[in-house]
Amino acid sequence: MIETLTQAFAAVQGWLFESAVQPLVFHLGLMAYVEDAHVAVGTVMIGIIEIAVLYALLKPLEAWRPIEPSQDRKAIRADVIYTWLHRLGVLPLLVFLLLVIPMTELDAWLRMNDIVRPNIEDLIPGLARNSIGAFVIYVIVIDFVEYWLHRLQHRFHWWWALHSLHHSQRQMSFWTDDRNHLLDDVLTAAAVAMVALAIGVASSQFVLIVVVTRMIESLSHVNARLHFGTIGDRLLVSPRYHRRHHAIGAGHEGVYRGVNFATLFPLWDMLFRTADFKPVFEPTGIRDQLQGRDYGVGFWRQQVLGVVRLKHALLGRNAYPS
Ligand SMILES: [Zn+2]
Ligand SMILES: [Zn+2]
Repeated sequence: MIETLTQAFAAVQGWLFESAVQPLVFHLGLMAYVEDAHVAVGTVMIGIIEIAVLYALLKPLEAWRPIEPSQDRKAIRADVIYTWLHRLGVLPLLVFLLLVIPMTELDAWLRMNDIVRPNIEDLIPGLARNSIGAFVIYVIVIDFVEYWLHRLQHRFHWWWALHSLHHSQRQMSFWTDDRNHLLDDVLTAAAVAMVALAIGVASSQFVLIVVVTRMIESLSHVNARLHFGTIGDRLLVSPRYHRRHHAIGAGHEGVYRGVNFATLFPLWDMLFRTADFKPVFEPTGIRDQLQGRDYGVGFWRQQVLGVVRLKHALLGRNAYPS
């Protein structure tokens, strides 16, 4: 079954590439990038399939048991744009282009100095032959890194100036996951990609990790009264668990400036005392929005206001809601 699907995917990818993309690449004289263009076609296809699956699964969930009626269509529209930008690979591509030159240079330097990059598969005996085991370890390591990046997004004023855009959605839906400032995206994606490269994740494994993580993240933003039960909520981030992270007040105030930072596994929150399993579905947003602070409704306005907040934070003016 999986093999048939993979073959069908490769066939469509090949057809699209040969009939539309390759001629364009040659026409533009970009022959050196022909292989990258082939990969890009695959990335776009994965994104389209992903959005179709999410829509088919999560839209009915939102219709079935919504937490709140979706009244603000305009606010959701921007989130849809973020999702398409992300899942079609525009942002990952940007990060890849930014990273590929320094990484190639670093690689060459390491080789010149006879330094072998550490690789988890070499460190743990038998792991190289156990691809599922290796995959699970990579997912855990990357999720741990994402937990701490998220803690820092709330901890540093300048980073919160950008990340607060994600929290400013008061009409949450499964589209909300990718609502981030582009600078914030580049920073986090670059950090995660660097860790993935450093621990030796192969690119095919990385794609799978990214797709699985993104699907669960979309689910955790869904506008539906859903949780996984007392035990399930402690094993995997549920919509109720992540909604607490978006709650006005609890999501961005207190000792740790928020709760429930985990992306996939609440284990990190439990270990570092930031877990909050309160069984509630509260209004989402940031406290200063109640006092009238504007985070923008449209995509560009949100991006510009993010830069303004960042500038204020760097100049020492308070970007964090008190
Ligand atoms: Zn956050
Ligand atoms: Zn979120």
